[in-house]
Amino acid sequence: MTSIMQQPDSPRETYSPTELFSKRAANIKQSAVRDVFEISMQPGLISLAGGNPYLQSLPLAELGQSAAQVIAEQGLEALQYGGGQGTRELREQICQVMAAEGITDADPDNVVITAGSQSAQDVAAKVFCDPGDVVLVEDPTYVGALNAFEVYQVEVLPAVVDGEGLVPEALRQRLAELREAGKKVKLLYTIPTFNNPSGVTLAETRRQQIIDICREEHVLILEDNPYGLLKFDGHPEAPLRARDAENVIYLGSFSKIFAPGLRIGWALVPAELKQRFYLASEAVTLCPPSFNQMLISAYLRDYDWMGQIRRYRELYSERCETMIEALEEHMPAGVEWTRPAGGFFVWLTLPEHVDTYPLLQEGIAAGVVFVPGAAFTTASHSNSLRLAFSAVSSENIREGVKRLAPVLAKAIAA
Ligand code: PMP
Repeated sequence: MTSIMQQPDSPRETYSPTELFSKRAANIKQSAVRDVFEISMQPGLISLAGGNPYLQSLPLAELGQSAAQVIAEQGLEALQYGGGQGTRELREQICQVMAAEGITDADPDNVVITAGSQSAQDVAAKVFCDPGDVVLVEDPTYVGALNAFEVYQVEVLPAVVDGEGLVPEALRQRLAELREAGKKVKLLYTIPTFNNPSGVTLAETRRQQIIDICREEHVLILEDNPYGLLKFDGHPEAPLRARDAENVIYLGSFSKIFAPGLRIGWALVPAELKQRFYLASEAVTLCPPSFNQMLISAYLRDYDWMGQIRRYRELYSERCETMIEALEEHMPAGVEWTRPAGGFFVWLTLPEHVDTYPLLQEGIAAGVVFVPGAAFTTASHSNSLRLAFSAVSSENIREGVKRLAPVLAKAIAA
């Protein structure tokens, strides 16, 4: 007797569970940046690719003691499920961190702690965007946000930026055009301060205009500010949220000012949006990791965290300067770069005929890794690339730029 399983033309035989993928799963892509990270692990390569913080500067031995203390003294709580919005203590401390960034009216009740700000981006798209809605982004923008939004089948469209960030008049025009074309723009996702990847900061004089335009056009601002405290000199720029508590969701993170491995970020959400936002976040993670929140609370309570941020600022400022000097010394004519006032990144632009993606292999052959510009954009930028100075010694920054220069010179001359 032949069993049903053995019949050659049984539909089960050709079945593959991959046919069950949702339509939205077609938009889930491997991030080009993560590909590059893997490559950059190869020995002998200098990686100017990864936007990693320089954790060697943290007081690791003391943090080990704090971790042990959290387990010894609060272990039952630290290893247990917690509230979906995050611990009250950390939400209060986060309000102090935001005060240092220039937001002085934050209420801990409106803070939702998330698994990094990456997961807050996902929650924002889930809560606000239907398929076909538009999210406007700076061009170029953070690749992780593009990945988070595209899964929700939204149309991610570029907004015009120049050396001073978003251009208000161009934004106004773009929004009007999209409205007239019957498109619903739900969110403006913006990294106004020390943008990843460009390093550009939105001019102070433009900030209120951007806020006003978004209100007039009924578009919610999703402000992502993981680098805001890492300004090399002077006071941090006041975030958009400092001027508008009702139409801005503000995203913050401990990843760049403390430790990304703890995966703790937050959203400061306008009061009337908070409940939905928090319930959507809870549906994904139940609660942010209790132990990690408590370790961060101990760090903020027991350490001079602002002193650590000052050390980071000095360190990154020096490394950025080294990178700019090396670029000035080695880069061929035709290459331009940004001069960031904070953050982790310098953005290089080459003549239009150069595509930096194939140059990655040549860079690797020369012993240096970067991220091609095409990774960060919904539009073009294939003639750009991102260099990160945050986690690389000054010596390696100089050597890395020196190795990169002839690769770019050859491509420009071709
Ligand atoms: N936003 C921006 C602009 C970033 O550069 C990054 C990390 N590179 C993130 C969000 C993600 O941060 P987190 O580790 O908090 O998820």
